[in-house]
Amino acid sequence: MAEKSVFEKILAKDIPSKIIYETERVFAIEDINPVAPVHILIIPKKKIPTMNDLVDEDSPLISEIVFAAKRLAVDYKINESGYRLIWNTNGHAQQTVYHIHLHLIGGKQLSWNF
Ligand code: AMP
Repeated sequence: MAEKSVFEKILAKDIPSKIIYETERVFAIEDINPVAPVHILIIPKKKIPTMNDLVDEDSPLISEIVFAAKRLAVDYKINESGYRLIWNTNGHAQQTVYHIHLHLIGGKQLSWNF
């Protein structure tokens, strides 16, 4: 069996983490190494290693993740001030966890290198 990603371990409670949002297909946690006051990861329960591995059937799942980000931005009161959504993919983008996740980042004035 393939090695579990850190996010699968969190979901399986092998690693402690506070799940701040959860549905049947998606969950969200606060990033352990935040680059801004709000730094949340929205993650599909299904392990998809990179955005390159998406298939047409994943379309509703990706939509659900984006709408979860929109909702969490309201919950964390950064919807008006502004936020950034990022999907890092492979080496040049410095993807470190090969289980796709959407970064929701805000709560301060951002520059391109945070
Ligand atoms: P990426 O570089 O896009 O693959 O992002 C992976 C993110 O996962 C990084 O921002 C890490 O800080 C974060 N991360 C890694 N392990 C954990 C963990 N146990 N709990 C929360 N966030 C984590």
